[in-house]
Amino acid sequence: MSERLYHSDSSLRTFTGAVTDLRKFASGNGELAWQLALDRTAFYPTSGGQPFDTGQLSALARDGAVLMVPVEQVEEDEDGTVWHFVREPLAAGTHVEGQVDWERRFDHMQQHSGQHLLSAIFWQELQAPTISFHLGESTSTIDLAGGPLAHHSLERVERIANEIIGEDRPVTSGYVSRVEAEAMLAAGQLRKLPDRQGTIRLIDIADCDKNACGGTHVRSTGQIGGLLVRTVEKVSRGVRIEFVCGLRAVRSASADFAILRETSALLSTGATELAPTVGRLLTEGKSNAKERQKLREELAAFQAARLVMEVPIENGLRLVVREWRDRDRDYIKLLASRTAIAAPQTAVIFSANDADPVRMFVARSSDLDFNCGQILREARAQIGLRGGGSADLAQGDVPSEQEAALRISITDAICRTVVKANKQQ
Ligand SMILES: [Zn+2]
Repeated sequence: MSERLYHSDSSLRTFTGAVTDLRKFASGNGELAWQLALDRTAFYPTSGGQPFDTGQLSALARDGAVLMVPVEQVEEDEDGTVWHFVREPLAAGTHVEGQVDWERRFDHMQQHSGQHLLSAIFWQELQAPTISFHLGESTSTIDLAGGPLAHHSLERVERIANEIIGEDRPVTSGYVSRVEAEAMLAAGQLRKLPDRQGTIRLIDIADCDKNACGGTHVRSTGQIGGLLVRTVEKVSRGVRIEFVCGLRAVRSASADFAILRETSALLSTGATELAPTVGRLLTEGKSNAKERQKLREELAAFQAARLVMEVPIENGLRLVVREWRDRDRDYIKLLASRTAIAAPQTAVIFSANDADPVRMFVARSSDLDFNCGQILREARAQIGLRGGGSADLAQGDVPSEQEAALRISITDAICRTVVKANKQQ
């Protein structure tokens, strides 16, 4: 077992110790690396929702040079040994000086202590117990058992947390026996107790909360530096609260403000006017889309009427063949269907040539007796393509170099069908 120096002093940044064990392991990217154990360490291993510390170990090499070995990850095993992940081996017995990356650790202490405080207030104010805690890269979350929380309740919890932070109450740690801890839990003096046997480490936020925990915490609530509740979402077991403390709160508030500033500038409005402005734009957008659709319908009807006037009937068929490059495909489809119903004896072959593959539309007026889907399907099959459509309107994509062949094939099929039908009459 390694002596865990952070239990008695969470603010310890440097320490000395000796390597007691060394083992090889394959890292995630297949590189060979080492894990080493020390007789005593200030490096915190991942546990209880708090991520591991990083930092470095320095040792004196045989030639007298100082060897600096970065500690990239720290984990504990079931026997209580703390393993430091390094890329260079240090033999058992080597004396080392350890240096914890303080910026990372202090950030973890702020978030973790903030979690104790937040969980305590959710319990005291709303009787909502915390069932899990996750300390992430940019934000942290706690999951609370129970139903949805009212917005004003969340605001109250956040306000009380920040008042206690402002009061700078001492945060202390101590040890009790399992029996004592159970008695405290029964008397309501302890918020939560893990299943672990033996001595229990308690973290005490003065006149606020007592909780069993093996993590690292700040010395007083003032060091949490402020707490900001961000998002609240429903999860299967209850409610997930996202929060940030200390510098993270400042960073996330700054990032939010940058978004507000950029969006305000885009809309030429003040931040407080953003919501009504965006609401108004959405309503206008919906109304514009409706108006646009109405105008497209009208335009298609006018254009269809002109197209059928331009093409005379020959052999009982008005065949309107057009290529379009400057219209979107939805409009060309609309125009195909409107042209087909603009006059009797009308068949339509439209190509949308705005991109490759070309999209081809085949449509007919209801008095003509052929199946557009079938004709398109058979014509496409001749050039090794699949697919068709309905009897009165069909569409399919074709590579541009095969477009002409497909159009000729469809034209032939339509003319043959119409001529045959005329003879039968
Ligand atoms: Zn803790």
